[in-house]
Amino acid sequence: MIKRTKNNVTYMAFELFEKAGIKHGFSTRLGGVSEGVFSSLNLGFNRGDSDENVRENFRRMTDALGINYENMCFSKQTHTTNVVIVDKSSAGNGIVTLNAFNDVDGLITKEKDLPLVTFYADCVPLFFYDPVREVVALSHSGWRGTVGKIGKVTIETMKDNFGTRPEDVLCGIGPSICKDCYEVSADVAEEFRNSFGEEAEKLLRPSLFSPDDGNKYMLDLWTACKMALLEAGVTEEHIEVTDYCTRCNSELFYSHRVMGTDRGSQAAFISL
Ligand SMILES: [Zn+2]
Repeated sequence: MIKRTKNNVTYMAFELFEKAGIKHGFSTRLGGVSEGVFSSLNLGFNRGDSDENVRENFRRMTDALGINYENMCFSKQTHTTNVVIVDKSSAGNGIVTLNAFNDVDGLITKEKDLPLVTFYADCVPLFFYDPVREVVALSHSGWRGTVGKIGKVTIETMKDNFGTRPEDVLCGIGPSICKDCYEVSADVAEEFRNSFGEEAEKLLRPSLFSPDDGNKYMLDLWTACKMALLEAGVTEEHIEVTDYCTRCNSELFYSHRVMGTDRGSQAAFISL
């Protein structure tokens, strides 16, 4: 991934997506107007920051990316694997009008100038671009979404609705918690074994933080997300995996594992 700064706003971008000329980005904490635990580019409403600050931060971020503020369409994330197709009728959802969605963790569109927006603070943002069918998508892959292979669900939904061929799709696995930072309990490890079979052993290691516990594991979400994309038929050279961990870089990103609920949110953006 590349760190870009434009008009004082710092965001992350994928080389694969920049080369393809697609407008996209993942926000950092840098370049906004919010203060304290929200300092400074908080993009989460209803977290205790003022709506006015969040709106100004969105204006700065959309200006930096060169995308339309009024047309943004927000997800409504609840750790499901629900992925929906959106069109013009959803322009402004969550920013101009009240968010009309319930339980939507993935967004897909073929509409031009309809920026998709999803939210993060350690969970994995997945970016998709099909340059042949001209379709973009974003999905939110926390551990539950990753167990449910939301990346694969997104590809399949693109295939069913727009005739997308998985081998054409560019995918980005964005800034989120790394395998050396993400400790999970035995029941989460078990869910990964149920979903990924023998391959799950490549995703799990004994805990680095509490090695004597025996009931804690380190989980590699980036590799899990990549496996789900490969399973869906995406080619290895079309997958770019971030090298930025949100917990290791808490000056650059809000991290739920570092800050708990007293924090701002990052957002992912993509627009045709
Ligand atoms: Zn880390």
